[in-house]
Amino acid sequence: MMLSESQKASFDALMQEKLLMSESKVVVITGASSGIGEATARLLAKQGNAVVLGARREEKLQKVVSEIVSDGGSAVYCVTDASKASDQEALARKAIETYGRIDVWVNNAGIMPLSLLSEDKVEDWDKCVDVNLKGVLYGIHACLGIMRAQKNGHIVNIGSLSSHQTGLTCGVYAATKFGVRAISETLREEEAAAGSGIRVTMLAPGMIATELPQSLTTQEGRDGMQAAYDALAIPAESVAQSVAFAVNMPENTAINEIIIRPTAQRL
Ligand code: NDP
Repeated sequence: MMLSESQKASFDALMQEKLLMSESKVVVITGASSGIGEATARLLAKQGNAVVLGARREEKLQKVVSEIVSDGGSAVYCVTDASKASDQEALARKAIETYGRIDVWVNNAGIMPLSLLSEDKVEDWDKCVDVNLKGVLYGIHACLGIMRAQKNGHIVNIGSLSSHQTGLTCGVYAATKFGVRAISETLREEEAAAGSGIRVTMLAPGMIATELPQSLTTQEGRDGMQAAYDALAIPAESVAQSVAFAVNMPENTAINEIIIRPTAQRL
């Protein structure tokens, strides 16, 4: 049967999609016990990838892994505090021992303890920097050497709209997320210059319905943020789809940044 040019193009696109779907990758995700990390793990596992989950709450990780496995997917976990370099090294080791390589590393773990700078919450500042900023660096530390040796890989960093803008109470959180953008862009340029084949993507989400508002450190803050999220936030699955989009592009194509927010979110 002869195909027209447009039929041939659609056939090629379909085959390309099937090929991409069948190419299993090993994907490590920090902060995979809830929200964006969990949704990303579930979606990428459903697409045929092997996923390695890291976070602190073991019972949550166990539940996600057992549900992925009983759905026919492949998943393991390693209890990981992203603010500890040694924990992230152990997470990478778990991936290598189980699957032999790391194709994608998603630096997703994060907290949002917002406060005015004048409130002087030094402990919250430390935690925010340790998880959101140093956690991303420790993730890069854990996987970059492995990816360099493989001569390919993909590092996905979860930034935020706060990687681009700040405002009242956002000083430290935005500082960490501006930092994630700076690290992502630097890493992109360095890996391109080195010809390492490693892709870098930063996701910059707006309000996404997850447990994040619960990481504010006052009841009043949590209640106010939760109410704002309940009114506007979109599901974590939408961010997971954006990660999958970047991951599933051909190896010679890097999606370097995606900004995703509710249509109705003004700022
Ligand atoms: P959740 O609170 O639902 O998820 C955060 C995840 O990070 C959890 O799995 C938590 O697991 C993990 N985590 C927190 N601290 C640590 C730590 N020290 N070590 C390891 N894991 C840790 O929120 P989201 O899914 O929304 O957050 C994911 C990322 O998305 C964050 O980086 C956040 O800044 C970013 N983001 C979210 C937005 C939103 O509106 N939801 C908007 C913009 C960015 P556990 O407690 O088990 O360790």
